[in-house]
Amino acid sequence: MLNVPSEIDVLVVGAGLAGYCAAYEASLHGASVLICEKLAQAGGSTALSSGFFAFSGTDLQHNQGIVDNGDMLLRDLIIAGGGLSDPSILQVYIDQQLATYDWLKTLGMTFKAVQLSSAQSVPRTHPLPIQMLMDTLHSKLVNELGVQLLYQTSVCQLLPDNNTGYINGVRCQYLNEQFTIKVSKGVILATGGFSRSEAMLKQYAPSQAEGVRYGGQGNTGDGIHMGLALGAELKDMHVVKGTFGFHPKAATDPGENWTKLPVYRGGIAVNKLGQRFMDESQSYKLLGDCTLQQPGAIAYQVFDQAIMDDAPDGVPPFDFRSAHRRGLMLYGNTIAELAVAIGCDPIELESTVNRYNQAIVQGIEPEFNRSSLSAGFGICPTLAQPPYYAYPSASGIIATYCGLAVDTQARVLHTNGHAFENLFAVGEVMGGFHGNSYMTGTALGKCVIFGRIAGQTVSRL
Ligand SMILES: Cc1cc2nc3c(=O)[nH]c(=O)nc-3n(C[C@H](O)[C@H](O)[C@H](O)COP(=O)(O)OP(=O)(O)OC[C@H]3O[C@@H](n4cnc5c(N)ncnc54)[C@H](O)[C@@H]3O)c2cc1C
Repeated sequence: MLNVPSEIDVLVVGAGLAGYCAAYEASLHGASVLICEKLAQAGGSTALSSGFFAFSGTDLQHNQGIVDNGDMLLRDLIIAGGGLSDPSILQVYIDQQLATYDWLKTLGMTFKAVQLSSAQSVPRTHPLPIQMLMDTLHSKLVNELGVQLLYQTSVCQLLPDNNTGYINGVRCQYLNEQFTIKVSKGVILATGGFSRSEAMLKQYAPSQAEGVRYGGQGNTGDGIHMGLALGAELKDMHVVKGTFGFHPKAATDPGENWTKLPVYRGGIAVNKLGQRFMDESQSYKLLGDCTLQQPGAIAYQVFDQAIMDDAPDGVPPFDFRSAHRRGLMLYGNTIAELAVAIGCDPIELESTVNRYNQAIVQGIEPEFNRSSLSAGFGICPTLAQPPYYAYPSASGIIATYCGLAVDTQARVLHTNGHAFENLFAVGEVMGGFHGNSYMTGTALGKCVIFGRIAGQTVSRL
């Protein structure tokens, strides 16, 4: 039998990064807070993530000689979103991102060297050890602030007042037991996305049928369903995309980090026939879409020893050496040998690499117009230093980046345009931020930014 409070000020649904940040702020500002987590452990997709945060204009960038600012970040976000992102929501990110970077440092977080990643016109990925952040927040919540966390407790229904729409409570399920908890201030949905709901992926993302499924096991779109039941508006549901660079083995072994992105350090992507098929400097969401069109929905990121030597250890998507040690890399002393490892025609792959190298030397790559490492930044090297490597890469549905429409305070919006006064959605369950594509590091960044805003706002009700 669970020790369940009959009434609480703030109920947070989901113990990932967004839920933790929301709970932290609400509690810090004086509210009594309960977190319900449907699995037996906290973490969700956050715990599986690479720990990349997108910030601009930081001291770390400055120290690495990178010129960046909020205007450049906003421009890149608008481009990545393909015009679908809600400008007011993006503006909140821009306004809060530097303060968020500082806040994470005050929690004791140390960022590794800034990296270039997807949809960034300058390097602005700030990597941090994500489990350390979650452990730090967990300890503050439970040990310092006295926030209660109920595991294996799924919130299954929101209970609104019929006249005002104000959420008065929630219906929960613990094992076979159902019970109601009254809520006096508000409910914060932090349930993550729906990368683990086959039914929702079939409904909203039929084009991703061949994408590898990943993400937290509890991420089945519950928050979206509960919002929909009250008439909530959804955003960006038609643009769910996979992430390129995902090893196909991830489908059978969810415990490891499977995303590697040598393309953003100068590698190329070829299909099973040994042919290039896209401009590799695009956002990895778009690379994922292109890969789904290829035979077997699979690509191979091909790179050389120079790129291997330059790759940073301990930064998951660029830690190629650890992937090699785990036996995930195909390799060969010559391009022809690599082709044999891939299973494609050696003459075809040699011809692809030779054409690409010649084009890079000439400064014009006519086949797919690649002109940079990522989003206009960085000079592509030739692939000429043996041995050569290939990372098998599928499109992985690791996150869904769409969901409940919210206002700038993270309050859920009804289809009639009004905000629910005391219902919030934060993190991956909220829609309207990413639009058509995705910039690396903004999903975790937005968990912190909107989680904290929701926690502060609800505590004032
Ligand atoms: C492999 C991988 C790498 C990634 N790398 C990055 C990265 O480097 N940078 C970046 O910005 N983004 C990254 N992402 C995306 C990012 O990690 C997620 O978007 C983000 O962590 C989502 O956080 P969240 O708090 O919204 O949800 P989650 O962390 O998924 O937490 C949601 C929690 O809610 C629980 N829950 C769900 N329904 C209920 C319910 N009904 N009742 C109670 N509990 C419920 C779930 O069990 C889960 O624990 C990555 C994702 C993956 C999978």
